[in-house]
Amino acid sequence: MFGSIYKNCDPSPKSILCFCGNVNFEMSNGRPRRVLECCCVDCFQHLEWASSKGGPIAPKIPTLSYWDNDLKLIKGEHLLQVVILRAEGRSRRLISKCCYSTLMVDHPFYNGVMFMLFEEACKIQWDSLVKSPNLTRPAESRIFVNDFGESRGKIPEFKGDQERIHNTCCPPYLDNWNIMSSQYLDNPKGEKCQSIFLRVPKKNIDLEEGKRIFKK
Ligand SMILES: [Zn+2]
Ligand SMILES: [Zn+2]
Repeated sequence: MFGSIYKNCDPSPKSILCFCGNVNFEMSNGRPRRVLECCCVDCFQHLEWASSKGGPIAPKIPTLSYWDNDLKLIKGEHLLQVVILRAEGRSRRLISKCCYSTLMVDHPFYNGVMFMLFEEACKIQWDSLVKSPNLTRPAESRIFVNDFGESRGKIPEFKGDQERIHNTCCPPYLDNWNIMSSQYLDNPKGEKCQSIFLRVPKKNIDLEEGKRIFKK
């Protein structure tokens, strides 16, 4: 069972920081539910957009980690903004205007029980001083390979199980993983990302689907 891959992660609370440190969250459960590599055009387009605004460099394939939806916003609320890629975009991505880090992502599919983080687009506390997250919480699968266009260059090798490389979303083992546990987390210590999103200004950045922002 793949759920066991993350059992050695430290479950104590972890901080989530923007790159300049002005925004700081703490999530109550430091053990991820799942980690994936996603080649989809929307993840990549968002990260290219943020990069074009001064944010971190967009990786060729971002690493997505999923966590229990229980958070405390420690500081920087006035710097936050929710962005969507286009009017029909279903992912809502929280960015920090100080340094265009992407702090968390919500999608209806997550069913309110989890949120997603781009591992390369914010600073997530490590489990260990010496082992990087790609060792302590490696991606268990790669999805949406069909979306990896030529303009991104050569596709990097997937270091995990080669059987878990998928052209689209979602393989059968992902079915219902958002509802595997209760929608109501036991003994929440903070708030859900949705309640933070409600307090923050929103923006539709209105980009054409799949369009690159930077040239190859
Ligand atoms: Zn910042
Ligand atoms: Zn994606």
